[in-house]
Amino acid sequence: MSTEIQTELATEVERRRNFAIISHPDAGKTTLTEKLLLYGGAIHEAGAVKARRAQRKATSDWMEMEQQRGISITSTVLQFNYHGYQINLLDTPGHQDFSEDTYRTLAAADNAVMLIDAAKGLEPQTRKLFEVCRLRSLPIFTFVNKLDRPGREPLELLDEIEQELGLQTYAVNWPIGMGDRFQGVYDRRAKQIHLFERSAHGSKEAVDTVIDLGDPRIEELLPKELYYQLKEDIELIEGVGPELDLEELHAGLITPVFFGSAMTNFGVEPFLNSFLDYALKPTPRTSTLGDIPPTYPDFSGFVFKLQANMDPKHRDRVAFIRVCTGRFEKDMTVNHARSGKTVRLSRPQKLFAQDRESIDEAYPGDVIGLNNPGVFAIGDTIYTGQKLEYAGIPSFSPEIFAYLRNPNPSKFKQFYKGVSELQEEGAVQIVYSVDESKRDPILAAVGQLQFEVVQFRLLNEYGVETRIEPLGYSVARWVTDGWEALEKVGRLFNTMTVKDLLGRPVLLFKNEWNLQQVLQDHPNFQLQSVAPLA
Ligand code: GDP
Repeated sequence: MSTEIQTELATEVERRRNFAIISHPDAGKTTLTEKLLLYGGAIHEAGAVKARRAQRKATSDWMEMEQQRGISITSTVLQFNYHGYQINLLDTPGHQDFSEDTYRTLAAADNAVMLIDAAKGLEPQTRKLFEVCRLRSLPIFTFVNKLDRPGREPLELLDEIEQELGLQTYAVNWPIGMGDRFQGVYDRRAKQIHLFERSAHGSKEAVDTVIDLGDPRIEELLPKELYYQLKEDIELIEGVGPELDLEELHAGLITPVFFGSAMTNFGVEPFLNSFLDYALKPTPRTSTLGDIPPTYPDFSGFVFKLQANMDPKHRDRVAFIRVCTGRFEKDMTVNHARSGKTVRLSRPQKLFAQDRESIDEAYPGDVIGLNNPGVFAIGDTIYTGQKLEYAGIPSFSPEIFAYLRNPNPSKFKQFYKGVSELQEEGAVQIVYSVDESKRDPILAAVGQLQFEVVQFRLLNEYGVETRIEPLGYSVARWVTDGWEALEKVGRLFNTMTVKDLLGRPVLLFKNEWNLQQVLQDHPNFQLQSVAPLA
């Protein structure tokens, strides 16, 4: 191996940081993303991300659905430079109706930013996404947003994170007042106060007035009671709670917390700077060859997401690949671990919002989009050199279920072809009733959106119009010890028994409460929330 490539890899890995934002809709993810890009110089005016979105809606028919529903379906990768760092922001779709893609994106991330609305605290989608981060022990950075509006007490918010998520917190900065009385934040590291200027709304980078804690002007600049409150608060937070230990942060055990206001662009830049100081660079990943460092000289990566028809003119499919090791080069030929075939990676794409740019090379921590001629499935590894495979991406427990009907018998073939291809691609999970007279597939998804995507694609790509018939269940459990165990237990009320594609029994429950009842009544029953690996 040449030392040149090693040096190059080491340099590129050193300057790469990659993260995804986890949040509940409306917490301000789009706004924060936009402000971050502004610092990276990737856009020059706030509002551009939204404007782009609007433009996209007008031009793409795949996005027809997005337009109708006013939501963003696709997750993309935003790459920007800042202070010499190459930052990759993996965008997780933020709508309530999120899909498995939202979860899968986290499999490609090295860090997560947990964005919280100060008035609302932790919300359902944030909790769910947090659980996925926890499975991967991702470092989590917390940004408490909308401080310019009345919100909950900062201590209460920290307490909620600690109690509910079991995640220690370390306030990196501390808010002074809130809502109408928001004065700014105190930066604990630098012992400085950043004053918030209410006029700094809008599209320019905020002018940050910074003064030292010891500066006598503070008493004039801050309302008296807020000044005294701050002094008290500082004593309190300095007195209790752990220090920020980077190892613990990197293990996902403690989260640095920042307070700010994305909309008014307050606190975003200090956040970005601290993030770059603390975030994990691309790290070794577990593979069949053991933990492989990103500087491993041969190229490798895995598929974390598939997307069809982003470009209506080409009706193509794109596989999103997280580069894990080595250098990716345009037109390189790689091995596809699952099939044992070789594939030439032509037309690689870098993704910026929905626009695609061709790229010539990529490094660990980057994401590339590849044209997918039906070769790639979720979790597939591609590599050069010695064979290796990365651990697969887990599937997620579905929460909504519906029969998918094909009202037109002459379309039988297309219907089944479409359903099976979409299932293979990971667009949705599919189960079947155990009742032989009910042959229609049951779609099992984590969000309503997945149903709509399936229907839309069946119509557009396979020419089949379908009907959805919702089933009133919300919890799925695989019976790990099989059909016999199920027979022993006998009839269960308020549940439906279905089988997955491998013929294994799955129980659908109306709700969590019903599940708990069954578990209480049958303590020996072995159930698990995701499909056991085949
Ligand atoms: P997303 O659904 O998480 O992408 O949220 P958006 O970025 O679209 O923001 C949702 C709403 O909250 C929009 O009306 C934003 O203007 C508003 N918003 C975002 N950040 C802030 C903030 O810091 N302060 C205030 N007052 N509003 C904000």
